[in-house]
Amino acid sequence: MPKKPYDHYKSVPELPGKKVAKKRKPKFIAVVDEDNCSGCQTCISFCPSFCIAPVAKDQYHIPRSPVQVRFNGCIGCRACARVCNKLAWNAIRIMPTTVFEEFYHIKID
Ligand code: SF4
Ligand code: SF4
Repeated sequence: MPKKPYDHYKSVPELPGKKVAKKRKPKFIAVVDEDNCSGCQTCISFCPSFCIAPVAKDQYHIPRSPVQVRFNGCIGCRACARVCNKLAWNAIRIMPTTVFEEFYHIKID
């Protein structure tokens, strides 16, 4: 079976218990390609939803772990992807929400 373009992506993060309510379902969700992320954290300060954070240190045994997007907070604004593309490693992919839901078996509301 041919591989899908997202097949090499790692998992998305576990969410904290508290759910973030959005006004409407976003059309897109940002997903970090952890194999390309240098862990520079440049994108973090550009996210208006404060939903990008480094992966817990115990998951990677390297000096700077990559970041992940807490998908339930993402509004699909693409700011992180633009910043990463211009200033870092082009490690963030913007997935249509429908594709994200199908790929990760997660329902975004
Ligand atoms: S800007 Fe890009 S390379 Fe840097 S932490 Fe964010 S996703 Fe990773
Ligand atoms: S797309 Fe926007 S809201 Fe989503 S993680 Fe990137 S900067 Fe944050």
